Amino acid sequence: MTTSFHPPHRTLMGPGPSDVSSRVLGALARPTIGHLDPLFLQLMDEIKDLLQFAFQTQNALTLPVSAPGSAGMEACFVNLVSPGDTVIVCQNGVFGGRMKENVERCGGSAIMVADNWGEPVNLEKVEAAFDANPDTAILAFVHAETSTGVQSDAAALCALATRHGALSIVDAVTSLGGIEVAVDKWGVDAMYSGTQKCLSCIPGISPVTFGERAVERINKRQHRVQSWFLDMQLVMGYWGGTGKRAYHHTAPVNNLYALHEALIMLQEEGLGAAQARHLRNHRALVAGLEAMGLAMAVSERYRLPQLNSVLIPEGVDDAALRSALLNEFDLEIGAGLGSLAGKTWRIGLMGFASNERNVAYCLCALEAILHRQGAPITSGVALPAARSVFDDG
Ligand SMILES: *Cc1c(COP(=O)(O)O)cnc(C)c1O
Repeated sequence: MTTSFHPPHRTLMGPGPSDVSSRVLGALARPTIGHLDPLFLQLMDEIKDLLQFAFQTQNALTLPVSAPGSAGMEACFVNLVSPGDTVIVCQNGVFGGRMKENVERCGGSAIMVADNWGEPVNLEKVEAAFDANPDTAILAFVHAETSTGVQSDAAALCALATRHGALSIVDAVTSLGGIEVAVDKWGVDAMYSGTQKCLSCIPGISPVTFGERAVERINKRQHRVQSWFLDMQLVMGYWGGTGKRAYHHTAPVNNLYALHEALIMLQEEGLGAAQARHLRNHRALVAGLEAMGLAMAVSERYRLPQLNSVLIPEGVDDAALRSALLNEFDLEIGAGLGSLAGKTWRIGLMGFASNERNVAYCLCALEAILHRQGAPITSGVALPAARSVFDDG
């Protein structure tokens, strides 16, 4: 007989999913109601409002796509890119590569602006790409590269796109809820996010928002959107406006209870306070890691507080260390990706998981295992270093 699955209580400090609070898990377990129940429609409206708050936008077309962040990415590309369109795609990690795939599958041509992994998107290179391709319709970039822990200047990139008469598509999967995201202030045209990173909700939902210029572009399309499920014209009938809703698909009812609860928690804390918490815990973690003798992989200027790339010291067995963390400490951290595989660890401090206890726990666990592996680290100093950051506020 196959028996029920009872996962252990892990501490999730990787690139996502992050720890989900018991409050959000509790919301998930509430009774399922019909997705056209008037009470559920009311919940949908509240979720829209809460997402507008999280994205800092008045955009009417703001909703949670019923699928993970990758589907939010695809929703932005399939709706905005038409065959023959030129799209400048910035790549400084894994996710820019996926944007290129999306552009090409929509029949567009992707002009790649490549930067080293571990560096932010270079504005001058993007400017040069616009100059060389004046017919560019869209600029696409990743705000917070989870594969490297690097933040790019979203405000400047969106302004650049607008100046060149192009729309912007911004990946904010890892940024939303962790660092500033200001859709209206920055003039973002389309943005997608995910629920399992700094929103600390369960995986599987992707908040998206489209501005007026993007909606106009969608409404003027000559080619049908290649994806039926992600066609915003159809989805709008389900999530759109007030009054009647046309059945499109069955919303993941309980998942949306969870998202609603996670967004309420963000609202209660306040965006500024949540960002300050992410920053403080990041500073404490870095202080501890550096005191121990480890080095960060990304320059301080571009570091994401919610995703910390750490250089693996010479002679350390990466896989053995991560499996010891998991098996002995129930602690998950991320491995390096792509060109950084085997060279870095990615320690997430995302959403609910960004707390003092996790910082201390991770430092202690890392120290114990590195010490056992004979790595050249200093014991007994990481925790006091982190503590002093907390004590300074
Ligand atoms: C996680 C992530 C995605 C993909 O989200 P999924 O929910 O895994 O599909 C896209 N972009 C970035 C920057 C991410 O970190």
